Amino acid sequence: MVSGSSGRRVMRTILHIDFNSYFATVEQQANPRLRGKPIGVTGGDRMKRTVLGAASVEAKKFGVKTGMQIWEAKKLCPNIILVSGDSDKYLECTKRFLTILKAYSPYLEVFSIDEVFMETYEIWDPAPSVIPAKAGIHTNHLWIPDQVRDDNIKTTCDFANAYLIAQQIKSRIRSEIGEWITCSIGISYNKLMAKLAGSLQKPDGLVVIANPEETVKILDEIALDEICGIGGRIKVRLNKMGIFHFKQLRQVPLEILTFQFKSYGNFLYNAARGIDESPIIPFYEKEEIQSVSHRHTIDHDTDDLREIKQILLKLTELIARRARAKKLVGKTVNCWFRYGLHPRGEYQVTFSVHPGGVFTGNGMQITIQYTNDGLEIFQAAWRSFQSMWNGSKIRMIGVSISNLKPQTPQNLSFLDEVKQKEVIIKALDKINDKYGEFTLKRAILLGTPIIRRTPNPFLTDRRFKV
Ligand SMILES: [Mg+2]
Repeated sequence: MVSGSSGRRVMRTILHIDFNSYFATVEQQANPRLRGKPIGVTGGDRMKRTVLGAASVEAKKFGVKTGMQIWEAKKLCPNIILVSGDSDKYLECTKRFLTILKAYSPYLEVFSIDEVFMETYEIWDPAPSVIPAKAGIHTNHLWIPDQVRDDNIKTTCDFANAYLIAQQIKSRIRSEIGEWITCSIGISYNKLMAKLAGSLQKPDGLVVIANPEETVKILDEIALDEICGIGGRIKVRLNKMGIFHFKQLRQVPLEILTFQFKSYGNFLYNAARGIDESPIIPFYEKEEIQSVSHRHTIDHDTDDLREIKQILLKLTELIARRARAKKLVGKTVNCWFRYGLHPRGEYQVTFSVHPGGVFTGNGMQITIQYTNDGLEIFQAAWRSFQSMWNGSKIRMIGVSISNLKPQTPQNLSFLDEVKQKEVIIKALDKINDKYGEFTLKRAILLGTPIIRRTPNPFLTDRRFKV
């Protein structure tokens, strides 16, 4: 809730718009022969070969779920049609979707490739004609019309109006993006509850949670992990404390929750009451990029040094190009990888490193001169890889560059050799921008499979930018 200048609490109106079975529906929209059939979209970064990135509504009826192993999905639904994912297609669709939403509010938070939060403000005014069309000021990510500051005019949270907007958005998506595409929309007074409302009816849902009384009723009927932010592990920990429902969670004092879960305890305390004051973070105000990273899951286990080198070089070229596109240079290089399948069929637990660089030491993180040159990043990453690798076969490898800062003329060297290299890099980028990734590439990359940046269908990709 937001306090108006009059001291009155102003209710917010938040819509959560979530496409149903996004990748699968977009594929069905593009290819009518797939419509009405159980399909599974494969691909999607880290789990490439063996896991479903998305399942169509029809496949879900058989119990097929996103993230499921392909063999498992086939067992449940032998007729499932597997389609390989096409990130460009999904991105294009998301952009068109955002264009529609922008007509209703400038306050859009792109939460993932198929999910957006939208905040709307509206004014109830007995004499609407006195309100100038676009009066508004910006404060802390919130758009508050000037009139809110006038005690004579009430600001209301009119869910009925938001409901009409939601219906319009749904019909515009159908007519402007495709008749096969549906979304579920949740409306409430904060993000947490809007997201929950959206999840209550699928597909093509439209649900309003209008007030805290309704919130409590609904919370008491759902499982703990149905709230965004409570995952499987947290659920297990809560269960161990004897907490199985939100009703029980509400009885736990804040002190105990913060003792058990540190600052996350606060979130749990509030979530159990449907409280969430987090602001909408419009996509153009998203936090600065902390690092540029990329990883690749190889479709077989390998200890072939040449192959690993090629993949790593390709990854470093990709992140270097992304850094250059954003006019950034970085000086910390992180490399991480996962060993292949253990003979018993389980992944060896070695270490897992977040691309953001929480891991330091052990030679994994290497500091170099500020750069956005792929080869320089590669050299550091390669050194780092060699210092960690025990010679076993690997399945996944990733690299990131962090400690970023804007590229300024001071970062650029005027030494002839360096300058020449920069000219070459610029020319390479221009050609690749025009004709696609890796049209021109270093000779060692010839013959390597194409690695593309794929939007991750899972929630972890919430910083995904469009
Ligand atoms: Mg979705």
